[in-house]
Amino acid sequence: MESSIKYIKGVGPKKQMLLKSELKIITIEELLSYYPYKYTDRTKFISIKEAKQSQDTVQCKGYITQIKSEGVGHKERITAYFTDGESFIDLVFFSGGKYLKQSLKIKEPYIIFGKPKHFGNNTSIIHPEISSGVNSDPTGQLYPQYHTTDKMKKEGLQSKQLFQIICNALDLISKQEIETLPEWLINYRKLCPKIVAMNGIHRPKNHAELNIATYRLKFEELFLNQLKVIYLKIDREQKYKGNIFPVVGKQFNQFYSKYIPFELTNAQKRVIKEVRANMNTGVQMNRLVQGDVGSGKTMVAFMTALIAIDNGYQACLMAPTEILASQHLDSILEMKHDLKTNVKLLTGSTKASERRNIHESLEDGTLNLLIGTHALIEDKVKFHKLGLVIIDEQHRFGVAQRAKLWKKSIIPPHILVMTATPIPRTLAMTLYGDLDVSVIDELPPGRKPIITKHFFESKREKINEFIQTELSQRRQVYVVYPLIEESEKMDFKNLEKGYEQVAKDFPDHKISIVHGKLKPSEKDEEMMKFKNHQTNIMVATTVIEVGVNIPNASIMIIESAERFGLSQLHQLRGRVGRGPDQAYCILVTGNKISNMSKTRMQTMVDNSDGFRISEVDLDLRGPGDIEGIQQSGDVLDLKLSDITKDGDILADVRNIIFKIAKKDRKLSNSANKKLLEMLIKTNKSLFNWSDIS
Ligand code: ADP
Ligand code: MG
Repeated sequence: MESSIKYIKGVGPKKQMLLKSELKIITIEELLSYYPYKYTDRTKFISIKEAKQSQDTVQCKGYITQIKSEGVGHKERITAYFTDGESFIDLVFFSGGKYLKQSLKIKEPYIIFGKPKHFGNNTSIIHPEISSGVNSDPTGQLYPQYHTTDKMKKEGLQSKQLFQIICNALDLISKQEIETLPEWLINYRKLCPKIVAMNGIHRPKNHAELNIATYRLKFEELFLNQLKVIYLKIDREQKYKGNIFPVVGKQFNQFYSKYIPFELTNAQKRVIKEVRANMNTGVQMNRLVQGDVGSGKTMVAFMTALIAIDNGYQACLMAPTEILASQHLDSILEMKHDLKTNVKLLTGSTKASERRNIHESLEDGTLNLLIGTHALIEDKVKFHKLGLVIIDEQHRFGVAQRAKLWKKSIIPPHILVMTATPIPRTLAMTLYGDLDVSVIDELPPGRKPIITKHFFESKREKINEFIQTELSQRRQVYVVYPLIEESEKMDFKNLEKGYEQVAKDFPDHKISIVHGKLKPSEKDEEMMKFKNHQTNIMVATTVIEVGVNIPNASIMIIESAERFGLSQLHQLRGRVGRGPDQAYCILVTGNKISNMSKTRMQTMVDNSDGFRISEVDLDLRGPGDIEGIQQSGDVLDLKLSDITKDGDILADVRNIIFKIAKKDRKLSNSANKKLLEMLIKTNKSLFNWSDIS
């Protein structure tokens, strides 16, 4: 399996180079792991009546009643009328006329195969494959189709030729020991042997063979994926000692008994408990807290920070934007009353003198909690004794940035990552399988559900009337426009145009405008104006997406809503419904949108639960497109499995691996030798990941 593909029959130096440069295939194993993306089914016949344009290919039997020729020379077009005695289909050829006229026989039995197409009332197949139908069984095969590149096609290495090479490779290894999973595991889950799976995925004789092979290979793929993340976690827990925070101290208790402004929800209490237990075990914490917008993550962050501080450590809280960082500062300053906790804000726009001040107090340990943006990552920022790093709205931070923070202390700090992007369970397991997860699955009491409606642009007047009514009752309104990088210029125009339109439609109201091109200080100024109700309407791009908390703003209008991702829409909607008033979210789309867009809008109208929405999103778009996941494409290197559909296998392999880990922490048992080999083989990527969390 590890040998070069040059040993395969039919692979000369040219094909070897081509496969390497186009598909990164060097070894036989890599070639055999290049799976078909679909199969053409020649295991059954259908009647001509059933042949529809929507089918990829069909196979029918019947005979030709008439052959017609139009045009001459290379413009000649041959049409053969083919029937199964019930309906007709046209077989159309634009070349090979001479040969066809000689060889095709009227009334002889044939098997035809190809893609049906409708032309007016007729159904045709252009250039069908035709074979004799004397012995009219189906050809009995599922033919694999492989993706090839333009260059490969040009050089004559198309799907069919690739298939031939793969068949030769399968013949070459047919007598070798290629099993990758331990025998006990194969027996335990009744998996087919690897060699059978390889044959079954590339040249299945029927659907049953294909299914057995696919299951085995998916199982193996997910098994390896989870083996990596779970053993990575074990490895890290053994390698790195964590700071121990044994006391629940003075400030925490004082805060909890005197200053806490509301009763914690049960979910908040549970998560704080989980975090506290985790930080007291001597193992470094790597925990992801998932909580829908408005579930009260800030409180959890603050109380967690108090635990660290009570134990003599410093903590920092990192947010993706200045607005959010300063909002965190404000709410924490307000909450802490006269607690002695020393809290400061460090962002890109912190003045030099204040900055120096912060650096000093960080290094001498008098600063307890530092809140900020990316500025916290800079090398100049040194802590006296950093014990806890909290990262808010995690998906905005790159993996490398997180790794950098991690290194700011000799004993790595505990890490708490808070995300409002609800990630479906199966995705979380594959992406963050090495992190512990806490979920705040409850909103504070008394929140009225936000009413969501979808309007087409043509209903503009009605929308404006509604906004007018709300404004006249002293409520505030967000109007959000998409701003997507690739078309930034055009979008920017939309935003400005939108602003002008809003100004025209609501001449009696003051308007703020916020977008990514403003300086942070200008942005903050506009936000503050809106927050203090000096303006009534906020026209903005998605910069207001996360975290902003302005309770009196109860209307969210999202323009061109079809251009936003579902989870983004959900985040935006989460900006309203933070005060006592009934909140509304209006999704405005073009009059003509695709069915997919309609489904997405309806999903928003029907659901308020972020987890549910993200599941639908995953279903509709697949994992590669989920926001915040792209950067991790690496981890999601799944060729065959689809985490939206293979959740059962995923859960199964996780259970099995946890059991193995309990008994055989180091995989030193000889029965697990193959698993250890598997891990070592992927060790390089393992190493990179061990610094992330
Ligand atoms: P998010 O999880 O989106 O970051 P926040 O921490 O901003 O949510 O909290 C949203 C709002 O809910 C804030 O105004 C906060 O004060 C309030 N809040 C948080 N927890 C509770 C609670 N247990 N009871 C009542 N209000 C709460
Ligand atoms: Mg928040």
